[in-house]
Amino acid sequence: METLNTDILVIGGGVNGTSIAMALAERNAGKITLIEKGGLATGATGRSGAMVREHYLNVELVRMASDAKRFFEEWPKEMGYDLKFQTTGRILLFDESDAGAAIANGEMNRAEGVNIETLSPEKTMKLIPLANLEDVKISLYEPEAGYADPVATTYAFAMEAQKKGVELLTRTPVKSLIVEGGRIAGVETATGKINADVVINVTGPWANSLLGQHDIPLPITPIRVQMVHLRRPPKLEILEQIIIDYTCGAYYRTDGTPNTLVGGEAPEDMSEIVNPNTFGLNADHDFIMRFWNRAIKRFPDFVDATCRGGYGSLYDMTPDGNPILDESPNISGLYNVAGFSGHGFKLSPITGEMVADLVTGQSKSSHDYKLFRSSRFDENSPITPARPYSARVHQ
Ligand SMILES: Cc1cc2nc3c(=O)[nH]c(=O)nc-3n(C[C@H](O)[C@H](O)[C@H](O)COP(=O)(O)OP(=O)(O)OC[C@H]3O[C@@H](n4cnc5c(N)ncnc54)[C@H](O)[C@@H]3O)c2cc1C
Repeated sequence: METLNTDILVIGGGVNGTSIAMALAERNAGKITLIEKGGLATGATGRSGAMVREHYLNVELVRMASDAKRFFEEWPKEMGYDLKFQTTGRILLFDESDAGAAIANGEMNRAEGVNIETLSPEKTMKLIPLANLEDVKISLYEPEAGYADPVATTYAFAMEAQKKGVELLTRTPVKSLIVEGGRIAGVETATGKINADVVINVTGPWANSLLGQHDIPLPITPIRVQMVHLRRPPKLEILEQIIIDYTCGAYYRTDGTPNTLVGGEAPEDMSEIVNPNTFGLNADHDFIMRFWNRAIKRFPDFVDATCRGGYGSLYDMTPDGNPILDESPNISGLYNVAGFSGHGFKLSPITGEMVADLVTGQSKSSHDYKLFRSSRFDENSPITPARPYSARVHQ
């Protein structure tokens, strides 16, 4: 059994853990080690839809997402990485019940500088002529949105972190935290001990398992979500845009081939609380049929699609659908960065910067991590949109 020493230990090799390690290394924050129980991006990240958009319902999140989108456009070119970022455009469909909120949120996003248009059904039809829009009252269109490859992104962050001196330990599960006199002192792994002054828990759906008996559980629930692959029939091959159907919580995104990934975020799609170590990896037949039927309702030609199955994955849900970025109130030197609730991929470059501020005491990021303090739930001030939509759990 060997003992390693580091200044900062980041636990979790997903897109957020690697982004944080990279941001800390850029600031020369000390000796940094990242530890991951499996391979990089093998948690929620590797199964992510990885859509990158700016439309959010809170001003702060719009600003974070806009800066993150610029990062996805510029950083790979500057640094020589290929994150496979594809600009597809993203169309959000609303019926009567959410039309007022959509108009108001579109205006708020435009005021923040987002390239987003509010479209009538007639104009929407010009973009997606094969859609059935009979129940759609209004849509929002973000022409610059798209998606990246979450695995390529995580490996790029990890490689850049490594170049800047971060040590990566994969296939090394952390078994428990070591806490001495109310301070973090390191962790026990399967192969030995790692002494660390600072430990950052970026383990997403596993965040509470890691805290174990040492800390009060975070308000984070692992929820199983499902994705379905539909191979579009030739007539539908033109459907390249991302579609978010707010009338029923469904979303559709191409994977760069004539395949569409179909997901759902209506309350009934997200009610299965699971153990993150034993959740069902394959999609269930009833989910496949539910998602497929929604797809047919919106694009009737999906009736001729070939279903190529689907998979299960995890959201780390908090009560307000937004992450926690905070030092533990009980264990100094332990930071929890989790609860991204199904929208943490695009924000990851900004999360890295914010957590680097939090841990180093600097304020180099233009975004304030305090918005994501864990005490907001006890203070009864969750992050809630002024104009929420009705059919989706996460906004
Ligand atoms: C189906 C799906 C679609 C999504 N679509 C989008 C989208 O379109 N846009 C978007 O922005 N976001 C999206 N998300 C959300 C986004 O993917 C996640 O918020 C993000 O990937 C979370 O990254 P993470 O690094 O915080 O967590 P994870 O990727 O879950 O990483 C946590 C890591 O911690 C490791 N770990 C756990 N316990 C231990 C331990 N004891 N020791 C060592 N390592 C440990 C795990 O193995 C894992 O690799 C989606 C998520 C899913 C599931």
